[in-house]
Amino acid sequence: MPLNLGKALICLGLVVIVLGLIFISGAEAEELVRVAIATDAHEIRLSIRGPYQILALNTNEELHKGRYLWRAKVSPAEGGIKIGKLDLKIYGVRIQPKKSPVIYLNGRKFRGAIEIIRRENNTLLAVNHLELDDYIAGVLYHEVSPRWPLEALKAQAIVARTYALYQARLNTDKDYDLVSTVASQVYGGRTSERGRTSKAIRRTRGEVLTYKGKVFPTFYHATCAGHTEDASALWKINLPPLKGRECQFCQRSPHFKWKKKVSIKNIEEALEKANFKVGTIEAIKIIDRDVSGRVTDLEITSTRGKISLSGYRFRLAVGPNIIRSANFDLQVKRKKAYLEGLGWGHGVGMCQWGAFFMSRKGFNAEQILGYYYPEAKIKKIEEIKDDQGKINTF
Ligand SMILES: [Zn+2]
Repeated sequence: MPLNLGKALICLGLVVIVLGLIFISGAEAEELVRVAIATDAHEIRLSIRGPYQILALNTNEELHKGRYLWRAKVSPAEGGIKIGKLDLKIYGVRIQPKKSPVIYLNGRKFRGAIEIIRRENNTLLAVNHLELDDYIAGVLYHEVSPRWPLEALKAQAIVARTYALYQARLNTDKDYDLVSTVASQVYGGRTSERGRTSKAIRRTRGEVLTYKGKVFPTFYHATCAGHTEDASALWKINLPPLKGRECQFCQRSPHFKWKKKVSIKNIEEALEKANFKVGTIEAIKIIDRDVSGRVTDLEITSTRGKISLSGYRFRLAVGPNIIRSANFDLQVKRKKAYLEGLGWGHGVGMCQWGAFFMSRKGFNAEQILGYYYPEAKIKKIEEIKDDQGKINTF
């Protein structure tokens, strides 16, 4: 009898496991991303408006349980981390709320869970763990206006989702996949979600942009001002969807033209900081441009000789928001550089203001993406996974 009962229990157990597996594979697994929301912090302000657990990062052991946390200061402490009055002798914790979103970090509300890690330099790193589409929901508002036509918002949702997945695949060995600044995509958490951007995300659920069945870095920028840029001119990326093309759609973009005056002294300091050897600058001359009009060769003559750099490098060194694009004219007069340029951003991939005007002309998201990323195709995430469930990536 006991033997038979044992057998029956094993059989029942197997049935439960098999049913469970069917359930898991049948449901579309939601991708998760890890976003650094505070880096090199000496102090973080944290509130949790609901029940939560604090778990040890390495063992998942519960260190503390609470019903509510009101404006706690989180700081690095001797041999660990301090969270309010709690002195935890551990290098990393996971704050797992029972419900989401209830976490407030430095005044912003976040979905999902948060990991706080004390780094070797005695600063804190906070990483938000959440579902991919919840992350995209906190990104879109910073990239485009929620008032834009829905098809433009849908196009933006698909490229932001694709870009995030691509980054996540690149950074699997790191503590996080993405940062919350322009270096990845600006992310503001739940606080940045808006009804229409979230609608665009729901309407494109699971959709990514692919080339030959693989996710690629779907770069985008504010305004190309006539022609998008070939990614291979800036980075070691040589892909047909990122080769650049003419764009007549963004002519009425508010960022079509720009002007800036920068003192030569500022340029000298910025270039030195970026490890270019310049003394006192005597002349700056544009030598060459590519088909898109962006400067490919800028010659700077100084007391330490001549250096040559691309408009892209020059822009990054001086400041990407001071020099808005690499498509500019430049004149030096009385210790100042007078720049007049076109567009905003690196120019690769989708021109956001072009997408806006395309959607106003009646083009849908698929047509917009087809225009800015030639030969690329929209696919479901599930369609581009390999046998191990990993997403195929360039
Ligand atoms: Zn454009």
